[in-house]
Amino acid sequence: MAQLLEGKIISERIKKQIKEEISKLNLKPVLASIEVGENPAASVYIKAQRRLSEELGIDYQLHKLDSQISETSLIEFIQKINLDKAINGLILQMPLPKHIDYKKISQFIEPKKDVEGLHPENMGKIIFGKAKILPCTAQAVMELLKETQVDLYGKEVVIVGHSEIVGKPLSLLLLDKFATVTVCHIGTYDAGKLEEHVRQAEVLVVAVGKAGLIKGEWIKEGAIVIDVGINRVGDKIVGDVEFETASKRASFITPVPGGVGPLTTTMLMRNLVEAVKIQYEL
Ligand code: NAP
Repeated sequence: MAQLLEGKIISERIKKQIKEEISKLNLKPVLASIEVGENPAASVYIKAQRRLSEELGIDYQLHKLDSQISETSLIEFIQKINLDKAINGLILQMPLPKHIDYKKISQFIEPKKDVEGLHPENMGKIIFGKAKILPCTAQAVMELLKETQVDLYGKEVVIVGHSEIVGKPLSLLLLDKFATVTVCHIGTYDAGKLEEHVRQAEVLVVAVGKAGLIKGEWIKEGAIVIDVGINRVGDKIVGDVEFETASKRASFITPVPGGVGPLTTTMLMRNLVEAVKIQYEL
């Protein structure tokens, strides 16, 4: 039976480290959060971010903008925050209204304040192993793997999902550890090869958003399974991996909820501390 990898427990330890780091900064970090329009999913994240900010001694400033705001006005607003020396980090809450192109807008966030680690400059630094601010979910997955004490050197790691926020940056972080990384996506699925790849995985990370996509019986005996997916099925939240059967074969597995999720917000705050250090050259 697999050991549970609970993000909440690991998160408590990292929060302690963040608090200590903040106490050495001689300032209260300020995190600006922009919400365009209103969305129930964003409200959940905002609540969690605000609660964690209070706990860690971070000043969380929410800016609610009209859902009809133009791209130009939103960019102007972001640029104002970029220039405000009192603000250390900026998050753009997702989803944005349809008329706003996230990929375009996110490039206007000052890289030194980009606490989500999604600006091309921060992403680009990952290739050279020089990034100090890393995409939060990819960073959370790396922390969970660290917890298992697995030596990633030469391990067969399979990532399912190649999004910009999870799969792509994670593949680079794992390459940096000399894992043998296979990235699967919709093309793999359409070619009927997903099962074949998953069966080879000594470490499996799934970030798709489709409940039950990964069958428990595909899991290699003793594999480490990190399930990033969040899916609502009836009144329950589940991941992308069939949990019951997978946990009988895996050595470690993340629960959903309670696995990757709680760590992701903590990583955001760790990025904020990194951002302060970069801004003040500490
Ligand atoms: P996304 O941008 O929609 O990416 C999903 C990825 O899965 C894409 O690469 C997609 O390929 C691929 N895919 C779709 N269907 C597939 C299939 N049948 N077989 C193999 N690959 C398939 O989503 P995301 O933002 O990365 O999020 C993924 C999941 O993680 C969601 O459930 C999200 O809620 C969750 N999430 C959780 C956290 C957390 O903190 N726990 C953080 C972020 C995201 P194509 O793009 O080529 O179709």
